[in-house]
Amino acid sequence: MVAKSFTGGIHPPYRKVATAVPIEFLSVPKLLAIPLLQHIGKECHPVVAVGERVLMGQQIGGVGNSLAAPVHASVSGVVVAIEPRPHINGRQVNSIVIENDFLDEKHPSVLPKPHVDKLSPGELVAIIRELGVVGMGGGGFPTYAKLQGNSAHKIETVLLNGAECEPYLSDDHRIMVEFPDEVIYGLRCLMKASGASAGHIGVEENKPDALAALRLSAARYSDITVTSLAVKYPQGAELQLIHSCLGKEVPPGKLPVHVGVVVNNVHTAQAIARGMTTGMPSVERVVTVGGECVTSPGNLWVRVGATFADILAERGLTCTPYKLISGGPLMGMAVHTLEVAVTKCTSGILALSRQESSAPPVSACVRCAKCVDACPMFLQPTTLAHYAMKGRLEEAEMIGALDCRECGPCAYVCPAGIPLVQWIRLVKSDIYARKSR
Ligand code: SF4
Ligand code: SF4
Repeated sequence: MVAKSFTGGIHPPYRKVATAVPIEFLSVPKLLAIPLLQHIGKECHPVVAVGERVLMGQQIGGVGNSLAAPVHASVSGVVVAIEPRPHINGRQVNSIVIENDFLDEKHPSVLPKPHVDKLSPGELVAIIRELGVVGMGGGGFPTYAKLQGNSAHKIETVLLNGAECEPYLSDDHRIMVEFPDEVIYGLRCLMKASGASAGHIGVEENKPDALAALRLSAARYSDITVTSLAVKYPQGAELQLIHSCLGKEVPPGKLPVHVGVVVNNVHTAQAIARGMTTGMPSVERVVTVGGECVTSPGNLWVRVGATFADILAERGLTCTPYKLISGGPLMGMAVHTLEVAVTKCTSGILALSRQESSAPPVSACVRCAKCVDACPMFLQPTTLAHYAMKGRLEEAEMIGALDCRECGPCAYVCPAGIPLVQWIRLVKSDIYARKSR
């Protein structure tokens, strides 16, 4: 049977070195700096004070009525500072610094929730909000907010992304292999919360153990389908995943909900299931630690607030990283300091050598059209970049700049080394800035 796929895309080298190694636990550090921004939306406000003892799972960041997800303490201990700290987004973000007492004493609010079958959709949405769950594939969108759909568009399908098409990353793969029942239970919670009648999981066919584990766990549920997908980047991008799994096209400028679909990551589903069965909010996650500079790559359970420095010190460095990336090399963010902390969205920490990070020197476009062929959104990256360089915002918007997913195949294939995605990102932000004036 031919695995499902989409048009365009690329095949970057496979660098997932720890896919067969079980998830390990990272030592929990003495000091954790927990950012009050770990999601798309408004920064949380502190609801604890310096000097206060907090317990594991206690809410330390509040959300008010804004689009946000509450933040919880990932250890028990004393709050020693509330201050700006370096963040993955490149700015300083208010963070709650906790001195760990290594007791992991749980807050009394951390109690198992009733079974999904005993809860109404509204109660489930409220629990998912209270647990602080966000998109753990790197997106960070508060999960509860995705589930509400809107009056004009009913959610019919919850689609879980288990493609994990980025090179290096294998945290989702290990989650699917080791916790398939939790992924399926989380999917059932998401289906009931959103009113969806079908659940679907898409997994690239280079993960046969994950496909087998999920199919076995899903066998009891006739409304859940597990699909094998072709190995290609960006198979896990929302629109490509919807096309590959469900054969639906999301029209330009529209969202998945407009075709009745909500997409979540498999790790997000697992976090919901864990929160439902234990009551513990989203305070830890699996992070892939890799790159040629890491002595001991692997997939690790890491508490939110541990710094990249803590993690790399434990796994060891063979050389000074030339480039440090949070997430995958194609969609992730380059970070400038090891002092940034792990958040709910940190899928990977990559310490890359100079050789791994090298790109061809920039030269003039040779009009080979490789970028056009690689673009899964059928855009003209070279023309978009040209308009971006000239500041021609209206023309860039007219040919679809805002439809660019910033996924990067165009820049990856460009023999002239033109940073196409960076130019398009710039023109998009200029267009948005002009619109907001
Ligand atoms: S970054 Fe944008 S232009 Fe480049 S391949 Fe992805 S969608 Fe196309
Ligand atoms: S891939 Fe690079 S060189 Fe080829 S057409 Fe696109 S921008 Fe020009």
